[in-house]
Amino acid sequence: MTTVITGGSRGIGAATARRLVRDGHRVVISYRQAADEARLLEKELGVLAVRADTSNEDDVARLFDEAGDDITGVVNNAGITSPSGPLAQLRTEDLRRVVDVNVMGAFFVAREASRRMTRGAIVNVSSGAATLGSPGEYVHYAATKAAVDALTIGLGKELAPRGIRVNCVQPGTIRTDIHQLSGQPDRPDKVAGRVPMGRPGEAEEIANAIAWLLSEESSYATGAILRVTGGT
Ligand code: NAD
Repeated sequence: MTTVITGGSRGIGAATARRLVRDGHRVVISYRQAADEARLLEKELGVLAVRADTSNEDDVARLFDEAGDDITGVVNNAGITSPSGPLAQLRTEDLRRVVDVNVMGAFFVAREASRRMTRGAIVNVSSGAATLGSPGEYVHYAATKAAVDALTIGLGKELAPRGIRVNCVQPGTIRTDIHQLSGQPDRPDKVAGRVPMGRPGEAEEIANAIAWLLSEESSYATGAILRVTGGT
């Protein structure tokens, strides 16, 4: 029972690795740059860490090669933002990179999973932004996450006859380092007042939802999009 988590060296991916190791999974994480963090996690949890950029299909194939034959879980988690602002001000290279990682990367990982898995579950990580649109901040990011939702619905139907479930978690604003990428490291606390529950989420709260969707407890759920946003 091996579960592959992309972008597993920190944030939601690392919290998910911790949770799944506790649940008894053999975990393989991928990382792009944070080699030191990945090595620490290898030592702490006994997971295998593989350097692989999900926007590169050869890297994704190598990640699955290294994970081995008995892959029963995939967490399609790697994702990025870019400097934020109204669309009119965003740079072409940032738009392209966000699409490349969040959409093409998610496609490559889901495609490799569907080629190799014979049973089990895939969990895609989208965002509450997919249905809110994130005006003035990152409509491009929100649009890429809507693509991840659509991927979940279609692939859920495509793989159901083969006994592979495909679901998705839409996190709200979660306290991780991703907000540094958009130039707003304090965003989680800034938006807390707009969240019905009055606080940002923690990575572990998303990991718990992912773990449920990977487990047999959710055995009749496929194509589902689970919003974990504190009510936004
Ligand atoms: P994070 O920046 O802390 O971690 C993201 C991880 O993905 C990092 O380990 C990073 O190295 C890795 N990564 C980035 N690009 C990669 C690539 N091309 N190939 C391989 N790995 C790559 O972010 P996070 O907050 O943990 O985000 C995880 C997922 O959750 C992302 O898909 C993100 O869009 C989504 N999400 C986060 C929030 C939030 O508020 N934190 C909200 C909604 C959705």
